[in-house]
Amino acid sequence: MIITKQKPVEDIARMVEKHKNLFLVGCGQCSSQCQTGGEWEVEELGRILEESGHKTVGSTVVYAPCHELDVKRHFRKHKEQLARADAVLVLSCGAGVQSAVEATDLPVYPTNDSLFLGNSQRHMHFEEKCSTCGECVLEYTGGICPVTRCPKGLLNGPCGGTNHGACEVDSDKPCVWTQIYKRLESLDELDKFREIQPPKNYNAIKRPGLVRPE
Ligand code: SF4
Ligand code: SF4
Repeated sequence: MIITKQKPVEDIARMVEKHKNLFLVGCGQCSSQCQTGGEWEVEELGRILEESGHKTVGSTVVYAPCHELDVKRHFRKHKEQLARADAVLVLSCGAGVQSAVEATDLPVYPTNDSLFLGNSQRHMHFEEKCSTCGECVLEYTGGICPVTRCPKGLLNGPCGGTNHGACEVDSDKPCVWTQIYKRLESLDELDKFREIQPPKNYNAIKRPGLVRPE
């Protein structure tokens, strides 16, 4: 899921200072789990902005606002409220904000900063384990990603600084290459550890990403 954090309320208020009537859009998935865009956050942000003179003319929580067709469907359903709105605030990741841009001619503003693609470990504990590098090497590393979880992104590790299983960059964290070694050892696949991986192909990922049917 996409991990987000809410921008400071003062920044959100500054963005919409010239717009009185607001329509708020929440996210039923990632931003709900991050507590940056669920039903409660939509209601609370509306309440806070009303204190500074704005009016919430309507709101909706889209199951996954990165789904453009679903956002358009919600906007059609709320077209009367949107007709009274001066601007739209989207409480999701940047992808959801841009879905809203496709669905309305009104100005659209983000309330969140998008941080990373994260694994959810337990309530409000998120960790980045994949940074979508475009050329996955998990086959060689026992399913543990060194590109993301080693601060140096080493494809052949460990570096000389690993210290009794701890990372030299952050001693509170394990050396991921030690974890990879132990994992491959337990799988009886240490031959993969000894295989030298070629330099990373940074052309494997193109920005902006685009997938279309062949
Ligand atoms: S190597 Fe790591 S960053 Fe790249 S796709 Fe695989 S898990 Fe994601
Ligand atoms: S100690 Fe391990 S995880 Fe830390 S930078 Fe070196 S190889 Fe990477």
